[in-house]
Amino acid sequence: MFGKKKEVKPEIYSEETCQSCGEKTRRRFEEGDYVYKRTTQCNKCSSSERLVTAVYGEYPGEKR
Ligand SMILES: [Zn+2]
Repeated sequence: MFGKKKEVKPEIYSEETCQSCGEKTRRRFEEGDYVYKRTTQCNKCSSSERLVTAVYGEYPGEKR
């Protein structure tokens, strides 16, 4: 059933950017996320102009 190789799945993250103040946050990808999706209200400036600006995968232990 299982291969010899250990398969490591990348962790998927969504990066959100506030269009109003530029605050960037990163969180775990959630089902239904896509780039330019409008997301939750900014907790810095309370603007609702926050969009998902990037979705990317990162392997555990990978350094940036
Ligand atoms: Zn903001």
